[in-house]
Amino acid sequence: MKSEITVIGGGLAGLVSAISAAEAGPRVTLYEAHSTLGGRGRSTPVPYVAHEGAHVFYSDGPWWTWLAERGMVAGVGVPRARDVRFGFVRNERLRTAPPLGFARMVLPGRPRTAPVDQDFHGWASARYGESAARAAANAITAVTYDADTGRLSAAFVWELFRRVFAPTVPSVRWVVGGWQRVLHRLEARARELGVRIESNSRITDLADVRGGPVIVATELASARALLGDDSLRWTSGHCVLLDLAVRRDRRDRFITFDLDAGGFHECYSMQDPTIAPRGESLFQLDMPVRQGESTASARARLEALADLTLPGRRERVTWQRSGTAKGRTGALDLPGQTWRDRPAVERGDGVFLAGDMVAAPGMRGEIAILSALQAAESAVTACTGTPNLLRKH
Ligand SMILES: Cc1cc2nc3c(=O)[nH]c(=O)nc-3n(C[C@H](O)[C@H](O)[C@H](O)COP(=O)(O)OP(=O)(O)OC[C@H]3O[C@@H](n4cnc5c(N)ncnc54)[C@H](O)[C@@H]3O)c2cc1C
Repeated sequence: MKSEITVIGGGLAGLVSAISAAEAGPRVTLYEAHSTLGGRGRSTPVPYVAHEGAHVFYSDGPWWTWLAERGMVAGVGVPRARDVRFGFVRNERLRTAPPLGFARMVLPGRPRTAPVDQDFHGWASARYGESAARAAANAITAVTYDADTGRLSAAFVWELFRRVFAPTVPSVRWVVGGWQRVLHRLEARARELGVRIESNSRITDLADVRGGPVIVATELASARALLGDDSLRWTSGHCVLLDLAVRRDRRDRFITFDLDAGGFHECYSMQDPTIAPRGESLFQLDMPVRQGESTASARARLEALADLTLPGRRERVTWQRSGTAKGRTGALDLPGQTWRDRPAVERGDGVFLAGDMVAAPGMRGEIAILSALQAAESAVTACTGTPNLLRKH
């Protein structure tokens, strides 16, 4: 086999796998369909740096270590203490504290794991009461983007819930400049290592680009079409999004969890003033779309949430845009499933899969990073015929 690796897709997974493979020696070529790299990590240009969705990293795992060791996540934004005002919507009113039942779920001494085979709503209701279970599922929708998070595997949801709401040490990180900056750094590192980057190159047939092992680092739907493999499917979220810049007002919340309906509101300029003009604040809000609900209806619910969390926002708005994310917010595991059941990284015949819907642990972007590292490791081994020299991650 020729010692050349092909990567298809120039988002987080494609760039991480290209860098990791190139660091081990082989020549790497990366093909990206768009004119710019970044995938879902792209953002709008200054002065309003709004992301397609992804904003945060968590520093409690190997995904962060890999990025940090290469200087990719240098410069973390921290909000001023006086700006950190949380909100919880309950019974259509904005409150400053969560309900007692919910608060009990985050106390120390709670179980570390939950059953894989049971749904989260049933498991959490039996332990903490139905209302607390519902509030918890709606709160963690900030990460699942799914209107019925209670139907997912208890093990899957509980792990997310504990990482977000009850971490041993707070691990959420906002990199100054946002995800786009991290992706620019990854691109620079890939070029420095000699990765050949072919943008504006949508690959429709593997035979057109194959010189050795291939890493398909596209969204799962594109991988399904490219590999002609209908089994490449997994559950993901569906939500409407609203990016909103307003003239600053001290009543604005930093973060609000909508415990009634699963909506979420977060300010991104309080911790990183570089992403909005002086005197303005930039928010992203989202609302999960219910089964059978129209996006117009979900959007109306999202607008109502924005009215609640940003008082008088209609008179203060300076910039906004709306969006929808369906099937592209990362993998969700149903009862009976774990990450090991997702589409495998190794597809056979020198083809490997990377992305946020494949068999690797973590959540969202972390799945993309870990699967990319595994795909790169296997591709290097396939390419050189020897166990690769990559550092263990
Ligand atoms: C609303 C929302 C919020 C999110 N929030 C977070 C968050 O806070 N933290 C987090 O970790 N993650 C978050 N995520 C998830 C995160 O954005 C993704 O996990 C990550 O960006 C996935 O990267 P990827 O490289 O796997 O896929 P992508 O970013 O989708 O990259 C795939 C690339 O492949 C290219 N491509 C597709 N088909 C072809 C082809 N045939 N030929 C060539 N190129 C092709 C595409 O153009 C694209 O550039 C969020 C996602 C959304 C939508």
